[in-house]
Amino acid sequence: MEEILKYQQLDSSLLKLERTLKSSEEKKIMNIAITNFKELQNKSLELEKLANSLAKEYETIKKEYDDCFKKLQSVTSLKSETLSEKELNDATKKVNEISAEFFIIERKLNQIVIKMKETLKDFENIKNNVIKARAKHKESKQKYEELEEKVQPEIEKTKKEMQSLESKIDKKLLERYKARKADNIFPVFVPIANNLCGACHMEQPKAKIDVLKKDGFIVCEHCGRIIYNS
Ligand SMILES: [Zn+2]
Repeated sequence: MEEILKYQQLDSSLLKLERTLKSSEEKKIMNIAITNFKELQNKSLELEKLANSLAKEYETIKKEYDDCFKKLQSVTSLKSETLSEKELNDATKKVNEISAEFFIIERKLNQIVIKMKETLKDFENIKNNVIKARAKHKESKQKYEELEEKVQPEIEKTKKEMQSLESKIDKKLLERYKARKADNIFPVFVPIANNLCGACHMEQPKAKIDVLKKDGFIVCEHCGRIIYNS
């Protein structure tokens, strides 16, 4: 029993050490930076899609513009002195129509240019944030590695001590310990305290107390821990 209690104590220190690493501020900052980075990556992909569709839209409108320009050219290439009054009127009407078309196309182009500028600005923002996230990640990773360098040898040392202790512990008792720990019951071994379970304080029946005195341990029906005679 003494060995398994020592084993449990080492295990407890091991858990604490591992928690030190897992829940360290550096690790948290590192994870936040990674999450930010992924979000930025997604946003960047969305922007890329937007930029592509804007470019296509621009192409379409540019084509409209070119067509319009050709129409205007064909009208303005007519020699006015050879035209009758009606033809001249028609040509003027046509020029006015094309001007109105130009006006609409120009407005569309302006809107696209504004959207493109906005997209570019968003890209710029994302780029800056990526740089920031990367710097933050690098800084916290460095600090985390420093912490790891300090804690990891202690973890290894504790694990080794536990391993060498295992051979001295009753096999069945160790199996029970490991099974309970896997079920997130920790500590597994608790002392009896005035006939109460040392963890959940459930009163242990008289018959079980007798078994405890005889065998050295009993199992608490309530919390599943192994109660030992202290
Ligand atoms: Zn209990």
